[in-house]
Amino acid sequence: MITPNMHYAELKDSYLCYNISPKTGAYLQAHPGAHLYRMGIGDVSLPLCGAVIKALHEAVDDQADKARFHGYMPECGAPFLRGIIAEHYRARGIMLSDDEVFVSSGASDELGDILDLFDRACSALVIEPAYPAYVDANVMAGRKIVHLPSGEDNGFLPEPGEEARADILYICSPNNPTGAVFTREKLGRWVDFANENGSVILFDAAYEAFIEDETLPRSIFEIPGAETCAIEICSLSKTAGFTGTRLGYTVIPRALVRNGMRFNDMWVRNRTTKTNGVSYIIQKGGAAVFSEEGQKQIKENIRVYKGNAKLLMHTLDRLGIRYWGGTNAPYIWMKCPDGMGSWEFFDRLLNEIQVVGTPGEGFGACGEGFFRFSTFGDPEDTERAAQRLFELLSK
Ligand code: PLP
Repeated sequence: MITPNMHYAELKDSYLCYNISPKTGAYLQAHPGAHLYRMGIGDVSLPLCGAVIKALHEAVDDQADKARFHGYMPECGAPFLRGIIAEHYRARGIMLSDDEVFVSSGASDELGDILDLFDRACSALVIEPAYPAYVDANVMAGRKIVHLPSGEDNGFLPEPGEEARADILYICSPNNPTGAVFTREKLGRWVDFANENGSVILFDAAYEAFIEDETLPRSIFEIPGAETCAIEICSLSKTAGFTGTRLGYTVIPRALVRNGMRFNDMWVRNRTTKTNGVSYIIQKGGAAVFSEEGQKQIKENIRVYKGNAKLLMHTLDRLGIRYWGGTNAPYIWMKCPDGMGSWEFFDRLLNEIQVVGTPGEGFGACGEGFFRFSTFGDPEDTERAAQRLFELLSK
């Protein structure tokens, strides 16, 4: 009899999936026709911008024409897109070569797949509260996980130290769920720590496009020394509404070497073995994101989400509730009022004002007592949800 990967039995049920849907489902069953203000989901509500749609249509037409048709795409990404993305970095002073950029089907895929580059004996540091995939992907592989809690005292941006020692270090900035963003100085300390210990940082930059403050780093490669210790995983999901279209990119500098092994070469070998590349059509759509028109249009969409964030932040300010994020991140992480637990607060919002958010506990034990609002919702819904929240909590 074969033995399945028994590490799957160690996975904890996803609190968020298993509790939110049944709770909202039960509410709707008891209150048929009720409208729920969904401020919990991380999915976007605006469609792809015009420049992307035009490029997608043109790429579909290419596929109908024998002379312009594309079959298999290069496994590591189409040269046109790798070049455009590398140039996007170079324009910001980050001197990458095109072959240091890999096109992917999104950050989730990469966050899981990239673990192939690490031995199972490697430990993984997860700064909590955290995006749940970091823990689960490593549990599946049987890796030891080092949990580093963060909290109000350090603004959810902990410093490296003895308790953070691990081989793989996950850093997500701007952070999901807390919205906290590392400054150059703080991120620099993690880069130095990784270089000193021979660790590798997996830097999740899925929300970099939401950074407004130009002093904050949008890429870990803005930090000196990162090229010898970091891999950056990016996504067009939230930057450009590609959640359902699927496109991302990963930067692996050629200078990242451990034990004589060059991670960039290893990833080329991995991709050429395990994928046949991302669809031509989608890569053409992705390239349009980086055009002048595309950049203008995606910024307009981001402005709409930032409008949602402002409404919610204004409401929490009026209520005197402490929160993080919102300005440089699409998430608002608030402290539950009156010492309420995060699921208790979830139930109260659902039952009394039909607003659905995400309980902090779902992102790790230290998220208890906090609550996450997403700003990716419909602006009208967000406005009504903010009003309802104010009415409920100002009573
Ligand atoms: N990383 C973080 C921190 C996220 O919050 C998400 C999605 O919500 C992802 C990665 C996944 O992004 P993608 O849609 O590119 O798979």
